[in-house]
Amino acid sequence: MADIIQLLPDHVANQIAAGEVVQRPASVVKELLENAIDAQASIIKLIVKEGGKTLIQVVDNGNGMSVTDARMSFERHATSKINCADDLFHLHTKGFRGEALASIAAIAHLEMQTRQEQDEVGTLIKIEGSKVISQEVKVSPKGTSIAVKNLFFNIPARRKFLKSTQVEHRHIVDEFHRVAIAHPSIQFYFYSNGSELFNLPAVNLKKRIVRIFGQKTNEKLVPVAEETQLVKIKGFVCKPEYAKKSRGEQFFFVNDRFIKSPYLHHAVTSAFEGLLKPDFYPGYFIFLEVDPGSIDINIHPTKTEIKFDDEHSLYAILKSCVKHSLGQFNVRPALDFEKDPNLDTPYTSTHRMGIQPAVTVDRTFNPFSSRPEKSFSKGFSKPTGEWESLYLGLDSDEFKDNAFNSFTVESDVNSDSIFQDYESLERSGIPTFQLRRKYVVSTIKSGMLIIDQGRAHQRVLYEKLLGNITVRKTISQQLLFPIPLNFSKPEITVLEEIKDSLLALGFVLSFISDTILEVSGIPQLVRESELRSILDQLISDYQHNLTSEGFSESEILAKTLSKSLAVKTGEVLDIDSQQALVNSLFACKESKISPFNKLIYVTITDMEIDNKFI
Ligand code: ADP
Ligand code: MG
Repeated sequence: MADIIQLLPDHVANQIAAGEVVQRPASVVKELLENAIDAQASIIKLIVKEGGKTLIQVVDNGNGMSVTDARMSFERHATSKINCADDLFHLHTKGFRGEALASIAAIAHLEMQTRQEQDEVGTLIKIEGSKVISQEVKVSPKGTSIAVKNLFFNIPARRKFLKSTQVEHRHIVDEFHRVAIAHPSIQFYFYSNGSELFNLPAVNLKKRIVRIFGQKTNEKLVPVAEETQLVKIKGFVCKPEYAKKSRGEQFFFVNDRFIKSPYLHHAVTSAFEGLLKPDFYPGYFIFLEVDPGSIDINIHPTKTEIKFDDEHSLYAILKSCVKHSLGQFNVRPALDFEKDPNLDTPYTSTHRMGIQPAVTVDRTFNPFSSRPEKSFSKGFSKPTGEWESLYLGLDSDEFKDNAFNSFTVESDVNSDSIFQDYESLERSGIPTFQLRRKYVVSTIKSGMLIIDQGRAHQRVLYEKLLGNITVRKTISQQLLFPIPLNFSKPEITVLEEIKDSLLALGFVLSFISDTILEVSGIPQLVRESELRSILDQLISDYQHNLTSEGFSESEILAKTLSKSLAVKTGEVLDIDSQQALVNSLFACKESKISPFNKLIYVTITDMEIDNKFI
C-alpha cells in the first residue's frame, strides 16, 4: 500500500487550531485585548457589532509592529514573547503560544493596521481565511488596530452553532470585564453597535470595579490582603449579605491573568462558611501574585486554567486570608463576639446547656403615652450622662435641626466606656443606645454596629421558640379564667392539626365543639389581649406556608409567633433590654439574617467613618 500520511497545509492546521482557541466571538475579544496589553498600550478601544458576529475590532496605542513583524504575526507559532521552552516559566506576558492571530485569520476576514513609534508610516494587511489579500503602506497612528469581520465565514457548521446575538454579546461583556478589572491602570473604551457601553479611565482597582459594576458596589467590598513567600494576595471580597444565588461576580487573577479555579473558589466560599444562605455565592475579585515559575499556564489553549505547584498551601493561605478580612472588617461576627460553642448544638438536642436567650422588654410600655423620656429629642437640655461633653461647642438650635434630633439616648449609658475598644459584646455593660426607636447601636472592636431591634428580637424569639417546640420544654402561664374562642370549622381543623406544636409552645387548649376552642394557658411571652390575633395569624400563616414554601410546621409557628411577639419599631427599649437583645442575638445560631430573610444588622467600620471626615 502506498504511503498515506501527509502534512496538513498551513491553512488547514490553522483552522484546526482555531477550533481550540476561538470558540466564540468572545474568544477573539480576549486574544486581541491581551495582545494590546502585551504591546503596552495605555488606551484600548473595543468595538463590536451584533455580538461580535459581524465585527470585532480592537484599537490600541501600544508598540505597534514593523512591516515584517506585521506579516509574520499571522504565521502559526510566531511570537515575540518567548524564545525557548524555558521562557514558559518566566512569563510576564498574556500571550506566548503565537497562535491567536494565525487562528483568527484562518476563520475570518481580518484587517490589521499598525505602526511603531519610530516608523513614519504604518502597514495595512488584509487577510481572508489565511490568505493575504493585500498589504500596503498606510499612514497610521502609533499602535495597532485589528478588525475581525464575518467570523467563521468559511466554517458554516461553527457559525450555525453561535448563540443568539444577545448571548454572544454577554460573553463579550464578561470577557471585557475580566480584562478591564485585571488592568485598572489602562484606559478602556467599549462600543457596541455604535453606542458607548463603557468608558473606563485609568484608576485604582476599587474604582475600576465600582465603575464597572455600579456605585452600589462600593459599600459591598471588603479588602483582602496577604503576603507570604508563596503568594501575594490582594483584592476584595463582597460582604456576605450581597451574596447572590447566581454565580457571576467571581474573579480570580493570577499574575493579572483571569483564571478559573473551582479549587480556589472553594477556598473562598469556605471562608464564608456560616455567613451565607444555602446556594448563595459570595462575590470576589482576588489577585494572586506568584512566581511565574511555580505555575503552568500552558495546560489549556485558552490559558484560563492554571496548574499550581503548591495548590494545597495556596488554598489554606487564601482561605485564612479571606476569613481574616471578613473578621477584621467585622463582617464575621463570630470573630468579634466569641460565641459559646454550646449554643451550636442542634435544635433537636435535649441537652441544651447554652444560655437561654432572655430579652426583657417592657411590654407594658405604650409609645403613645406621655411617659417622660430622657432623650435628646425631648429633654435635650438635661442629658444626665456625660454625652453633652461630646457636643460642647455645638449650637443647640443647629443641633436640634439636624438628624441627631431623632436620637434617643439612654441617660444611664456611661459615656466613658463608649469609646473604648470592646473585645467582646458578651461582657456585661455593652455600650448601646437606641436610635429612632428602631435601631440599637453599639460599638465593636473595629467600628459600629447598628441592629434592627425588631428583626433581632424576631431572630432571638424564633430560635428560642423553635428550640422549645423541638425540645418540648416550655413554660406556660395558666389563665385565671379560660377563654372560649369562636373559629370557623376549617380553622378549627387547622388548629387540631397543629395542636401538638401549640402545646409544645405553651398553649393549653381544649376543643369544646367543632367551632369553639377553649384556651386555658398561653406561652409566657404572649399576652392575653394578643391571643386572638396570634391564633388567627398562626392559622393563616400555616395554611399559606403549607401550600407554598414547604417549611415544617414548627418553623411556620415559630416564625409567626416570633413576628407577633417581637418588639416593633417605635418601642423604646431600656438599657437592659438593649443589652440583653444584643447578647441574645449574638448567642443565636444565626445572627445576621432574620427568620424572614432580612438583614438584622449592619456594621460601619472605623475606616468608613474616618473616610467620611476626609
Ligand atoms: P502571542 O500573543 O501568543 O505571541 P499572537 O498570535 O496573539 O501570539 O500574536 C503574535 C505576535 O504578534 C505577538 O507575539 C506580537 O509580537 C504581535 N502582536 C499581536 N498583536 C499585537 C498588537 N496589538 N500590538 C503589537 N504587536 C502585536
Ligand atoms: Mg496573543
